[in-house]
Amino acid sequence: MRTFFRAKYFDAIDNVNFQVKVHATQRFVVIDVMDEESHVSETIYWEHEGIKRDAFPNTSPIVRLYFGASYLEVPSMFLNEVKSKFRFAPYLSSSNAFLANNKSFLGIGLVLVILAMLVVLFTYLTENFLVNLIPPQTEVKIGEMLRQQIVQQEHLKIDTARTKAVNAFYTQIHLKSDYKVTIWVVKSDELNAFALPGGNIFVYSALLDKIKSPEQLVALLGHETGHIQLRHSLRSVMKNVSTYALISVIFGDLNGASAAVLSQLSKLNELSYSRENESDADKFAFEIMVQNHLNPKGMLELFNILKTKDQTEAIPGILLTHPKLEERMLWVNAAIAKKEFSVEINPRLSRSFPRLSPVH
Ligand SMILES: [Zn+2]
Repeated sequence: MRTFFRAKYFDAIDNVNFQVKVHATQRFVVIDVMDEESHVSETIYWEHEGIKRDAFPNTSPIVRLYFGASYLEVPSMFLNEVKSKFRFAPYLSSSNAFLANNKSFLGIGLVLVILAMLVVLFTYLTENFLVNLIPPQTEVKIGEMLRQQIVQQEHLKIDTARTKAVNAFYTQIHLKSDYKVTIWVVKSDELNAFALPGGNIFVYSALLDKIKSPEQLVALLGHETGHIQLRHSLRSVMKNVSTYALISVIFGDLNGASAAVLSQLSKLNELSYSRENESDADKFAFEIMVQNHLNPKGMLELFNILKTKDQTEAIPGILLTHPKLEERMLWVNAAIAKKEFSVEINPRLSRSFPRLSPVH
């Protein structure tokens, strides 16, 4: 059965309006233009998909529907007719009646949409994509949150005097970084160092004790700065964001998400890098050494120090996150052989370095 509604049609091209009769089919709103004798002189078809609706309140008895530059003024009752024929018409969605009658349908639809989004996220949102979505300011905030969390949960004791000295040393290195880097010296027997997203580097005192030259220290700090600058730390963090966190974000439960992220990230052993990331950070450090006229052999010396670390140690350490030391040493040797560089004594670094020692 076809229900016709009287309506007013405004033709944008001729800027005239007609009395018309409208009805809905599965695909179209059909507009019959009437002549003076009430005969159909012309029929216009509007596809449901192309129709837009005005923002008049739903209680208004007249609704205006747009199609391109033309529009139609129809009794709001007409929308019920459309609904019976084509319930998915986008211009129906602002109607309360529609929402009320289709709650269960909408609920299922919403779940399906979310599931589809999840699938899309897991399939297409690679680590890279997620990393690129995060602006540096957010990265800095994430890093700061992590720093506080880690210091608290791991009961890290910061050596303030050595922290001050190592930061003073760091400012004497010429390097370009988009992030403000702060270094923290942790009182610990472990040979460890790691970088957090956005600018915090932790160096453990036992490792610092073994470092005997400015070159070795620049090699270490340059490498960790590379992880920050090249956003490896952020990448590593994103890789470890659990499914739970992702789902929480999708469902708008941000507290749950951040709690999940933090609980994952506070496990430092999760902060691991790919071999490619390691070699890129080494390249970054090598460039810094060359630019500062420091002997890149300092990198080899640093790797030798790290090699002495007990590899069976369960606690996450620089060795576990830097597993291919031999391979990396080969690369440094090759780079030294290939690259031309001049080595000079940097008096400011040489002066700053002894202040790092635990007794001074
Ligand atoms: Zn590394």
